[in-house]
Formats: sequence, structure tokens, C-alpha cells
Amino acid sequence: MLAHELGKTGARVILVEAGPRLTPRDFHQDIGKTLASYFWEGGTRAARGNVFFPTLQVRALGGGTVFNSAICMRPLASSLQRWQDDHGLTDLTEEALAPHFDAVEELLGIREASDDIMGRRNDLFREACENLGWSWERIRRFEEGCRGSGECITGCRHQAKNSVDRRGIREMVEAGGRVYTSVHVDELIMDQGKVRGILGATVNPATWGRKHPVRITARCTIVAAGAIGTPVILRRSGMTRNAVGDNVVFHPSCFIMGTFDELVQPWNGATQGIHSTEHLERGIKLESLWATTSTFSRGLPRQPKQFKRYLKKWPHMSVFDGWVSGEASRGRVRHIPGTNRPDITFDLGEADLRRLQEANALLCEMFDAVGSKEVVTGIHGLPEVMSPREAADEIRKGRFSAVDLPTASNHVMGGAAMGSDPDRGAVTDSWGKVWDADDLYVCDTGLFPSSPGVNPQLTAMALAHRLGQELPRRY
Ligand SMILES: Cc1cc2nc3c(=O)[nH]c(=O)nc-3n(C[C@H](O)[C@H](O)[C@H](O)COP(=O)(O)OP(=O)(O)OC[C@H]3O[C@@H](n4cnc5c(N)ncnc54)[C@H](O)[C@@H]3O)c2cc1C
Ligand code: SF4
Repeated sequence: MLAHELGKTGARVILVEAGPRLTPRDFHQDIGKTLASYFWEGGTRAARGNVFFPTLQVRALGGGTVFNSAICMRPLASSLQRWQDDHGLTDLTEEALAPHFDAVEELLGIREASDDIMGRRNDLFREACENLGWSWERIRRFEEGCRGSGECITGCRHQAKNSVDRRGIREMVEAGGRVYTSVHVDELIMDQGKVRGILGATVNPATWGRKHPVRITARCTIVAAGAIGTPVILRRSGMTRNAVGDNVVFHPSCFIMGTFDELVQPWNGATQGIHSTEHLERGIKLESLWATTSTFSRGLPRQPKQFKRYLKKWPHMSVFDGWVSGEASRGRVRHIPGTNRPDITFDLGEADLRRLQEANALLCEMFDAVGSKEVVTGIHGLPEVMSPREAADEIRKGRFSAVDLPTASNHVMGGAAMGSDPDRGAVTDSWGKVWDADDLYVCDTGLFPSSPGVNPQLTAMALAHRLGQELPRRY
């Protein structure tokens, strides 16, 4: 988004990306192959701490937007208020950001999922909300011509998703900007407190093996390697204050699978077409979800006959997911010494554990509200299959520890947090200008000092758009 804005001004823009550029020909519905080819660490990236915590990040031109569900939400007013009050980000008000959200939403064609592509899984989610008297919304996504094929996580073969490689980067290249893919950035070129570009190497897109050294010089350098990648680059370049890579925030998530007498065919319908914001202010978001049978099969009963029985039931099952705000938990990114690989730690805090517990219970209540007979929760200490009502009660009553509730998160934020005071943990100012070096900016979800309260990508894009309008005034 930033490259797009800068490209419009006539600036000479060079975008460097470690992963390859992908086209619909590169997408297939095999999740294992997709993760191995286009995700960091082949899809096995995980944080260590009081819980095993997998986290997926995309390694391709366009980043997460290429494989994500395209959900776009503006941040909660209460979250922005906290950024202002607790972090001195007084210029990041709803009013000041509104034109940037408007511009991004227009460029990416963000709109509500339509009823004709919902499929039964999304409809069941909506009916559950209605039966429980909860609010529900059609999800706003960047798409044009979505067929409801439910395969966003393996890439949109129908060219319907307006990921930023297709909207934004393309126009920047048409305006004369350059893109170098398969170049891994290792560190920044430092010159007496100023940044003068990047050092890295070309990588083989199939094997990830390093080939030729790369050196690119620039008047202004912007690091946008994501909340995991950016702290690694900054720290390897000598910016080793604790704040760099500290305060990493995740949205810990969960999912519940339920069976129905009727045919659901959960793979039909928009990957995530309906969500509920009913519980958002208490830090819980609920969504309909699809992401290949093998992704969810880890939750199925483990005894072989049972496993087979539930695999056969897939056409009659549905999946709903939930995630929590992560306010009580803490993550941290460092790099493994002598390498450019991240070392991620994450401890799930007590209040988030209880929120996660409640999210699981709420999802079970939803299945109960639409006549599901059985749910599979994957929660340690509970029977593998239960009635949804019984499961909701048992989950609420239980005293679970962090390892009992299966969780993961693909929403990573913080690590290069904005703030007015570098002595109080801020890595950048409210524009993303790094306090510790000149001519250096950060532009990704790493900037968030805390959760925006919603799915993160639209907020990052609005901040990028804002910086894209400011930088030409400075250079
Ligand atoms: C499966 C999935 C579904 C999701 N669904 C949603 C959703 O529906 N809505 C939502 O808001 N969020 C969603 N997210 C999260 C969202 O995709 C991310 O929050 C968002 O993409 C983060 O943007 P970013 O620019 O910070 O980082 P990224 O999108 O991760 O971009 C960083 C880029 O930098 C590159 N890079 C990293 N290190 C280096 C290096 N050393 N050298 C060169 N290049 C490097 C990476 O390859 C990547 O392309 C989802 C994520 C996943 C994985
Ligand atoms: S649901 Fe299918 S058609 Fe729609 S954006 Fe996702 S992959 Fe593309």
C-alpha cells in the first residue's frame, strides 16, 4: 500500500521481497504443499512458552493478503483511544485516519460478502447468532467476483481476491517502480546513525538456498517484513534495545467442529463470510471458517475407527472459530544468534486463557442453537465428542491450564511499536519513523502498540497509506 502511494508521486521505489511472485497457476488445493512452498519455515513456525503456539506467515509478494481470508475491519474506537491515552499517539484519531481507510477500501474494492456465496456453513453461523439474539454481520472483504470456493488459504484460483500484489503493487510497477522478489534482506546499511539501504541475498524460491549477495542503497528505507521479520532485521542491524522485538501481541484463536443431520458441505461458501461482533468489547470475536479438511482433522477423535467415522461425516460438519484480544499475554521476537531466523516466545496470560475458554463455550452454544448433535472440541480433559450444550457447560466450569486449550494465531502485531516516548518501549513515532536511526521507517502490523481489537490488516494498510502521503513531503 505504501509502495503504491509512493509510486503515484514519481518517487523511485524499489520493493524487495524474500518470497516469489505468485499467479493463479501456482495455487492448488493441497494445504501441505502450499504451506511448504509459500509460508515461512514451511508453515511450521511456532512460538515457545507456556503453550505450543503455531503461527503462519506468508512468504510471497503481497504477504499475508495472498493467502488470507481478506477480512477487513476498521479498528475499534476504544482501541484507538488506548493508543492515544497510553502511548501518546494523539494524532491517530478516528477522524484523522478515516480518509486513509476510505482510500484503501476503495482501491481494494472492499465490500460485504453477498448472500449468494455464503453456503450452508456461513448460513448456519448466521442462524446461530439470530437464535441466540446476538449481532452478526456479513464480512467485508477485498474481492471482486468471489465464487465462494472456500479456498482462500491455498490461494484464490479464481482471481477474485484483490490481494495487494494484484491491487497496489501492480500499479506501482506500471508507474515505473521496481520489484525484486526472492531477495532475503539480512540487515540495513548503517552509516553514523543513518540508514542507507539493505544488504541481503537472492534465494532460490524452491529450495530457499542462498545464492548471490545483494546490496541496494536508498535515501529512505522502509522495513515492512511483518511483526516477526521486522524486529529481526532491526536487531541484526544493531538496534538491540529491549523494545525492539518486545511487546509482540497475538490474537490467540480456537475452533470448534459440529455435526448436523443435514448436508452442510462446509467447503462451499466464502472462506469466512459471516462474523459476530457481539462479544468484541470483552475481547472475543467469533467467525465462520473453512480451511481444508486436513487442517481441522487434528481435532478429530484419535482412535483410528473413530477418526475414520468422523472423516466420513465431514459433509455434515461445520467449523466456527473464535479469537481473543491477547491483551493479557506477551510475545517477544529475537533472532537465533548467527542466523537470520526468528526466535519467538509467547506466554498465554491468565485473562486470555479465560477468554479463550469462554470463546470455546460460546462456539459450542452456537452449535447447540442450530441443532447440532455433537461437537468436537479438541480440549484436553474433555471427552473427544460431546453434545454442544454439555460441552459449553463443561468448558465454562473447567479450570484449564494453557496447554489444555489448543490454540494458535496468524494475527501478529507489535515488536516495533509506535509511541511518543522511546524510553517507554516505543520503537517508532506515530509515522513509523524509527527513533534509533534516521531515514528509517517501519510499515507493518509490528507498529501496533496493542491489539486494534479487530482483524489487523486494514489498520496496517491505512497507516501505510498515511505514511505514503507524508514521505514525499519529507524527501
Ligand atoms: C491464513 C491467514 C489468514 C488471515 N486472515 C486474515 C484476515 O482475514 N484479515 C486480517 O486482517 N488478517 C488476516 N491475517 C493476518 C494478516 O494476513 C496479517 O496481519 C497481515 O498480512 C500482516 O501484514 P504485514 O505487512 O505486517 O506482514 P506480511 O503480510 O507478513 O508481509 C511481510 C512481507 O515481508 C516479507 N519478508 C519478511 N522477512 C523478510 C526479509 N528478511 N527479507 C525480505 N522479505 C521479507 C514476507 O515474505 C512478507 O511478504 C491472516 C493471516 C494468515 C496467515
Ligand atoms: S472464497 Fe474462493 S473465490 Fe472467494 S476469494 Fe476466497 S478463494 Fe477466491
